[in-house]
Parts: sequence; structure tokens; C-alpha cells
Amino acid sequence: MRGGTKRVLVTGGAGFIGSHLCERLIEQGHEVLCADNYYTGTRENMKTLIPNPNFEVVRHDITFPLFVEVDEIFNLAAPASPVHYQFDPVQTTKTSVIGSINMLGLAKRTKAKVLLSSTSEVYGDPEVHPQPEEYWGNVNPIGPRSCYDEGKRCAETLFFDYRRQYDMPIKVARIFNTYGPRMHPNDGRVVSNFIVQALEGKPITIYGDGAQTRSFCYVDEMVEALLRLMDTPHEVTGPINLGNPNEFTIKQLAELVIELTESKSTIEQRPLPQDDPRQRQPDITKAKKVLNWEPKTSLKEGLAKTIAYFEDYLARHPQQ
Ligand code: UDP
Repeated sequence: MRGGTKRVLVTGGAGFIGSHLCERLIEQGHEVLCADNYYTGTRENMKTLIPNPNFEVVRHDITFPLFVEVDEIFNLAAPASPVHYQFDPVQTTKTSVIGSINMLGLAKRTKAKVLLSSTSEVYGDPEVHPQPEEYWGNVNPIGPRSCYDEGKRCAETLFFDYRRQYDMPIKVARIFNTYGPRMHPNDGRVVSNFIVQALEGKPITIYGDGAQTRSFCYVDEMVEALLRLMDTPHEVTGPINLGNPNEFTIKQLAELVIELTESKSTIEQRPLPQDDPRQRQPDITKAKKVLNWEPKTSLKEGLAKTIAYFEDYLARHPQQ
């Protein structure tokens, strides 16, 4: 339980991680204001939150200024799936860069603590494995993923310049692949794609040979880490890697999803998208030490919960 009631702004609060975070903040007794433009977030994600008198939601695009009074800001707003962030890449960069400027300005005026959800994408296609926070990354500045990668890198720059110039309480989290209930069924991410394909008996689409790796963190544990990071003392700024270091190939993930869903789906190969990182695994030494945090949910356990969510979701939305 975090001390005292706070007014907490969560940008992207109608999204996948954001809605889980809002729930935890409400459980802790805080007043939560969610700002979301519903580009990828949904009101359905907030259906248990909306009736709560301590929860308020505003339809707002953070590329425009927001004038509210708050004690803490979790700046989560940004489409995180390659399909979504590449649909309108200019808006993606604007959301990270102009959105961060607006949220930092708001934090400066209100003296609020402000946390950025940055990303493992700042490491690009990494040449160092696993990735520690000190690694500067291997990012293509002009490729199809650049709007997201460079947008988040610039957001990190802004957070650290606001810190250096104004000594503001900033926190930067680098979030690695996260999964769980409320992922968007059509957002093209690998966990949601494979589960939906398996449940519908459609072929599982592996991009490339499936030898590329990712490390998947269950959403509840990610939310716990974000809350702990916000509660760290002033001297802790990050950047800090948050993710589950257990690394799997995409082929292993496909096989596990087929096993857990008892699906008859076959595996089909598709072309590998440009600049798709070959491997990704967080070094979480810092998070363990600074946050006293370490993910415990196995991929099997987390997938079982996520599969249950999608079974229910697909039953309620049969056209999906
Ligand atoms: N991927 C795949 N099949 C899919 C969707 C994704 O093989 O239907 C691969 C994708 O090429 C990448 C990995 O799974 O290597 C993770 O993709 P995702 O879009 O979930 O996130 P990323 O980590 O690339 O941002």
C-alpha cells in the first residue's frame, strides 16, 4: 500500500497496461484521472473503473496541452504495437515527443512526479545481449520502426534534460515485451496474434524462421514494477529495464500456445518485417536491486490466464 491519497494522472489509461495500472491505483485508494484519445485504448478496458467515484476519464490527445492539478503522472500514452504505430508514424513521433513535452510541462507547473514508459526498442536490433541500461542501442533512424524507437529515445532525452535543467522528479522505465488480458486482439503483436489464431483454428503466422527471440513479462508484474519505480526516492531516475528475462524463440512461443489451447492450428511462415530485432532480453540487475522486484509468473502460467481472457473476449465479439 502506497502512503496517502494522491491525484494521479495516467495517460494512455484506457490501454492495455494503462487500464491495469489504473485499477491498482484505485485499489490503493488514490484518485485517478485517465487521459486517452482512444486510438488504441477502449472504454471496455475501463468498464469496472468507470463507475468508481475516484476514477475520472477524459478524452484527450496528449499532443495538446492538458491543464489539471495532479501529484503524479504516469505517461503511458503511445501505440506500442508495430502495426498501430506504423499506421500513422508522424502522429507516433508527435505522441512521444510533443506528448512528453506537454506532460513534463504539466509536471513542472504542478511539481508532480512524472514517469515515462519508454521501451526496449531504444536498444533497436541490439548487438549487446542481454541489454543493460548502459547500452546505447543500435537503432535505424530512418526505418519503419524509427517513429516509435526514435520518438521514445527523444522522450528519454527530454525527461533527462528537464531533470538536469529543473531538477524535476523524473522516472524512466524501459518496458520489454508485456502480455496479458486486454491486449488488443487485432493489434498484430505476437502473443495476441498467436492466441487468437490458435483459438480460431487458423494458421499460426511466424514471421521469418521463428528463431528471433523475445522475453515476455506478465502485465500484473509490469504494473507492480511501475508503481515501485514511481515510489523511489528523488535520486532514482532510471532508465531502468522492466521485463521478464526468460527468453523464448518465437517458434517456441507458437508451440506453447498450440499446446495450451489444444489447437489444431498449423504453423505458417511469413516474411520477416524490416528491422525486426533478432533477439531481446532485459538485464534486470538494476530493477532487482533498486525496486526489489523480479517477475515470478512463468510464460505458461501467464499465457493460460491470457488465453482464458481471449476465449471469453472472442465469445463476446464473435466477428473479431
Ligand atoms: N511475430 C510473428 N508472428 C506474428 C506477429 C509477430 O512471428 O503474427 C514476430 C515479430 O516478427 C517479432 C516478434 O514476433 O519478431 C514480436 O513481435 P511483436 O509485434 O509482438 O513485438 P516487437 O517485440 O517486435 O515490438
